[in-house]
Amino acid sequence: MSGAPRASKERPRSSPSLSPASVAMVSPLVDFFRPERRRTRLVRVGDVEIGGENPIRIQSMTNTDTLDTAATVEQTIRLVEAGCEIVRVTAPSIREAENLKEIRRALTGHGLHVPLVADIHFTPNAAMVAADFVEKIRINPGNYADKKKFDVRDYDDTQYEDEVKRVHERFRPLVRRCKENGVAMRIGTNHGSLSDRIMNRFGDTAEGMVASALEFLDVCEDESYCDIVFSMKASNTQVAIQAYRLLAARLEERAPGVPSYPFHVGVTEAGDAEDGRIKSAIGIGSLLEDGLGDTIRVSLTEHPMREVPVARGIADRAERVARERATRSAPIGVISPPMTSYFEHARRGTEPADWAGLSIGGQDVVRVELEVPDALERPVEAAARLATELSVLSDVRCESFLVRTGSAGRLPAFAAELASLGLETPLSLRTGGDPGAITAALGSGAAIGRYVVSLAVSSTEASISAFRDVARDTGIPIEWELEARDHEIPGLVRRLLGAGDQTAIAALSLGSAASLHDYRVLTAALADNAAARLPIVLRQRLEAATTGGDETGRMPESELLDASVRLGGLLCDGIGDVVSIDSRVTAAAAVDLAYRVLQGARQRTTRTEYISCPSCGRTLFDLEEITAGIKAKTGHLTGVKIAIMGCIVNGPGEMADADFGYVGSGAGRVTLYVGRRVVARAVPEAEAADRLVDLIQEHGRWVAGGLEGERSESAGESAPIEASASEPFSG
Ligand code: SF4
Repeated sequence: MSGAPRASKERPRSSPSLSPASVAMVSPLVDFFRPERRRTRLVRVGDVEIGGENPIRIQSMTNTDTLDTAATVEQTIRLVEAGCEIVRVTAPSIREAENLKEIRRALTGHGLHVPLVADIHFTPNAAMVAADFVEKIRINPGNYADKKKFDVRDYDDTQYEDEVKRVHERFRPLVRRCKENGVAMRIGTNHGSLSDRIMNRFGDTAEGMVASALEFLDVCEDESYCDIVFSMKASNTQVAIQAYRLLAARLEERAPGVPSYPFHVGVTEAGDAEDGRIKSAIGIGSLLEDGLGDTIRVSLTEHPMREVPVARGIADRAERVARERATRSAPIGVISPPMTSYFEHARRGTEPADWAGLSIGGQDVVRVELEVPDALERPVEAAARLATELSVLSDVRCESFLVRTGSAGRLPAFAAELASLGLETPLSLRTGGDPGAITAALGSGAAIGRYVVSLAVSSTEASISAFRDVARDTGIPIEWELEARDHEIPGLVRRLLGAGDQTAIAALSLGSAASLHDYRVLTAALADNAAARLPIVLRQRLEAATTGGDETGRMPESELLDASVRLGGLLCDGIGDVVSIDSRVTAAAAVDLAYRVLQGARQRTTRTEYISCPSCGRTLFDLEEITAGIKAKTGHLTGVKIAIMGCIVNGPGEMADADFGYVGSGAGRVTLYVGRRVVARAVPEAEAADRLVDLIQEHGRWVAGGLEGERSESAGESAPIEASASEPFSG
């Protein structure tokens, strides 16, 4: 590679003096409405190129003991067969780093030239060895040469700069070795494992993550070494998204207009099963939607083989959406930004409203609604089916049903049957093109929260006026669902709001085919028309898997990923007051998914939050099995954050904001944490899950379960129970 991407010799260097104000001043690199892929330089990792025009590369990591050559080679082969293009292997000490040579030799013997990445934490000496045998080194700036003891210590500017110089000199030999060997490097920052020094200056923030990485970049650029990929992972999807955006802005600031370093995108400690997939899709997928990301790794607490198809699904979706977006060229014509801040989460503020008992907007949580298209064809049967399907949900409930007119006279029968089955759920009504159907429904006597009316470019002014009149006469407002392409949305919003009258409007929404970016256009168009506080309904359609042409009611993984990216990305941007699902899968699956996405986007907490690592060669127990056991005991603890980590070296640092921690500390031994404080060491594995439950009870966080503990994340994060005591460890 040629020299580092710099626009001038006077480029800004990383600085500890970045202030929140300066962060807000950074002009975003991304077109919020029709983003293109971020321009990146090409980094070669063995035979695989990352960045530039290359497709998004898929990575994973082995979880075998790196000293077990046969097992690591066998797992690597399986990963490659599954579609993994780059494989990471942990190198906790010099012994494992040296064994990478044997692993490389054995892979070559199998005719496999997949690039290997050595994963380094705390051990610069192992990195120096590994750089002779692999194609890429991953270092964590938080622990490469800094201490991580959760120490509270004040650094004055001189002490801080002295520490930075010390870290630079510790890191420089590795940079020179990698440059000599043609080995690439990932500067991989993790939220939660920032050094004490960075934490002292910036806190555990996206800004601290970026500052930490840029300190290491300074050394690389001083050495004219630029085969670098960056990552900014966090378990909190909002933090991950903000950190990658901020890093993109900071790199552009250092070298404006020059293709920059590629990004490896991931959400760390995402967990397992549906929640792990949802969190990964929200974080990775929404960044890819904005053109940020050149290679991805999905981290699941499952066998690494299962990570690969999920990553493939997210990457394929992003590439498909980008191709579709590239066909759009008509100017959009909005002025306002779609969100308050690109780098900090702030929920879009809306006026509170009541839709027949469903309170939305204001300080309320984002609501969950299910559209039931055929409810009024056979109202009694439909109510019974919904009650049966939804009865399997113990901790969440559907908060609104959206039914369609057609046989509006049957609305009371549907409402009465629901009530008799214990579902006194607010109802809203989707209408066709005839305002008269609304009058008929109203005549039925059922309480109706709002009407949902589709509005297309071809809709006439007369029809808009007729619906408005009915809304005024009945006192029931309209949600206008715009069926429009992105450039048509501002015009439709102007037609609705041009007269300045918002009294008959409940909310705005887009059809279920609309993209995340279309919703951003809607948000900006509302602000342009002095309607920034009108609620927005996010619509999602879920298709069911089919067998022999028949719907099965089961949800394909592609639907889960799509809903997570689209809804989760918008929720992380602070957009959306109601999630309304039009579903071909079972009612319970659709409602459950909506709540999981809300929690994955840190918008609404309705169950236990698990932060569990994917495990790696450092893990000395079956993390997947342990995680399943702990979930079975604690799955009803709404809002409690429990970390389950594979090793004592890296786990405590990466538990982020967990309330309780279960951390492997040796063969068959576990260390338990309350917040950051160690409360029990070397607990036998057979007893550790029960001891964890005891701890949760002792700290008053044990509840019987249900919705009573629900809270809105956007109203403020709960503080970890203990946050300052320290557990010294080294590695
Ligand atoms: S926390 Fe988990 S994934 Fe990270 S180094 Fe430890 S065992 Fe490996």
